[in-house]
Amino acid sequence: RRTEEMMKAYDESKKAGSSSSTKLKRFDELPLTKKTMIGLKKSSYVEMTDIQAKSIPLSLGGRDILGAARTGSGKTLAFLIPVIERLYKEKWGPGDGLGALILSPTRELAIQIFEVLRRIGTAHSISAGLVIGGKDVTQEKNRLGRMNILVATPGRLLQHMDQTVDFDTSNVQMLVLDEADRCLDMGFQNTIDAILENLPKQGRQTLLFSATQTKRVKDLARLSLSSPEYVAVHDED
Ligand code: ADP
Ligand code: MG
Repeated sequence: RRTEEMMKAYDESKKAGSSSSTKLKRFDELPLTKKTMIGLKKSSYVEMTDIQAKSIPLSLGGRDILGAARTGSGKTLAFLIPVIERLYKEKWGPGDGLGALILSPTRELAIQIFEVLRRIGTAHSISAGLVIGGKDVTQEKNRLGRMNILVATPGRLLQHMDQTVDFDTSNVQMLVLDEADRCLDMGFQNTIDAILENLPKQGRQTLLFSATQTKRVKDLARLSLSSPEYVAVHDED
């Protein structure tokens, strides 16, 4: 009987060991920079949500991501962390211009993303700007050239691409589409296509997140995704 118990305990510990080694649970188990960890700690983010645990290791590795998880599941950090980490690791600075572009279908969501970015990016010196309609366009214009990360709504961003002479998007390393299904739908189609024409296709990493999985082949072709990783989190019962 004792042997039986010992075997059972052994099996259980083996199980626990293998599951913790295959799936990371906490932010401090990821290979993140100290500066990012400071920002996460300040906001009391310790354990990753499912979509974060599944997608961040892949996006940190440079993969294109098609992520799907319900509203409230923590998609914002799932794309902001890889964006900050990549620019920091590439030693992105004031003279390097725009390195990452985050598109959101609405002003309200863009503002929310920007606020999270400011909180978790607090220890970093990467500059970030918000480009949304309804604000003074000249004021926005003057700041654009200095920004490393922009959080933008599609219409306003395109306006700047068309009108702001020294707005250089040829160096963009990462493109994020939040609420990707809404960004890619009919109403935004032409705007998104025009924005994509101004971005580099080679070497760019693209992260798409939404509540539903975007698998339309046409969309994936438009975005020039390279062997994207599909990451979906389904609600249990
Ligand atoms: P989604 O974009 O999927 O709708 P959000 O990114 O807006 O979700 O996150 C929803 C809420 O969950 C926010 O209040 C956010 O601060 C919180 N949150 C996100 N990630 C974590 C985490 N790892 N630990 C604790 N709270 C988190
Ligand atoms: Mg969201």
